[in-house]
Amino acid sequence: MVCQTVKNGVECVFMTKKGCSFNGGTCHTIIDKCEGCGRIIECPTGNYCMIYPDPSAKWAIGSCPSATHIKNEIKENSQKINPLKASKRKAGH
Ligand code: SF4
Repeated sequence: MVCQTVKNGVECVFMTKKGCSFNGGTCHTIIDKCEGCGRIIECPTGNYCMIYPDPSAKWAIGSCPSATHIKNEIKENSQKINPLKASKRKAGH
């Protein structure tokens, strides 16, 4: 249904005839780590994620899988990790 609360006019699976069915009855605002992401929508009540109703949960166990602003960071990290893995393998043998 179309949201009639914080993301007024946006189609959302949590919206029901009785109102928002999401935990807490409303979306949660973005967190610091979301800053710069292309999926942020600005609403009169604050900034929200257009995909996830609770952005902090997406960052609780690592990086948000849908963030548009951290792709380069992930690439850099994996490049840094690879030599480490290689040296660990060497040490094991
Ligand atoms: S997609 Fe992820 S990083 Fe981007 S606003 Fe939503 S929760 Fe935040």
